[in-house]
Amino acid sequence: MADTTILDMIGNTPLVRLQRMTEPGMADVYLKMESFNPTGSLKDRIVKYIIEEAEKEGRLKPHHIITDASSGNTGIAVGMVASVKGYRSRIYMPETKSVERRKIMRAWGTEIVLTTGEDQNSHIWAVEEAAKDTDTFFYLNQNGNPGNWKAHYFGTGEELLHQRDGRIDTFVAGVGTGGLLMGVAKRFDDAGVRSRIVAVEPDNSHSHIEGLLHFDGSYVPPIWDESLISERVQVSDEAASETARRLAREEGIFCGISTGATTWRALEEARRLGEGKIVVAIAGDRGERYLSTALFSEG
Ligand code: PMP
Repeated sequence: MADTTILDMIGNTPLVRLQRMTEPGMADVYLKMESFNPTGSLKDRIVKYIIEEAEKEGRLKPHHIITDASSGNTGIAVGMVASVKGYRSRIYMPETKSVERRKIMRAWGTEIVLTTGEDQNSHIWAVEEAAKDTDTFFYLNQNGNPGNWKAHYFGTGEELLHQRDGRIDTFVAGVGTGGLLMGVAKRFDDAGVRSRIVAVEPDNSHSHIEGLLHFDGSYVPPIWDESLISERVQVSDEAASETARRLAREEGIFCGISTGATTWRALEEARRLGEGKIVVAIAGDRGERYLSTALFSEG
């Protein structure tokens, strides 16, 4: 194991069953702990996958600055992978995202360009403009790059099939770029696993559920394919935050607000499905990333 790098620690995340938040008569609820990736989120998977594919194909050159638009987690993952491999990185992020994100990105040496919080997609428009300079930048393009869903097809989706022996009645995840849901849904389909696939989105475009996209018609990620989804549901900031706090108090799981959103919905699904069934939800990132926000400042 002497030549193991931090990049080898990406993926193979644990699946844990909720012990106290479910009640008798409900389905079992499992969380796929993507927070166990090295930088603490599911985005490590896609950044490693896309960068290594581009290296193999010779599209990523040593002088390139790796860039993308990110609400934080992808930016943090880009910084980590770039620093292991010796690239520079630049991330476009809305100014409204938690300050922890900026501090972590600076620790990797990532340059940060803050865009207005008025428009939930301002960072995407900004990076698309900058990325026209293809001599300077390698544009990771998490919203449009098929490597995003492929990383979850071969990673998250494949792991879940093994972890649950192909038995998952309902799968619940948030939608940011849609990569995770697309990859997992395609993997389940190809394995002949018939799960109900539930996509969770915030109920407004100024939501504090960082990392999830409210579909207001202004932007649809190019990799998104609605036909793979059984139902798209909305979650309020209040329900997501309260569930994230309960996960810490009742289950010992200190997570971000988007995990509160998926778990809230997973509990609803588990109530409807009833005993003997299996619901799996994604735990996207860790609570430490939100210490400066309202999520954990009360009480
Ligand atoms: N589920 C949760 C809980 C998340 O936090 C995220 C990312 N923020 C996702 C799923 C999926 O992200 P994406 O759609 O960008 O793959």
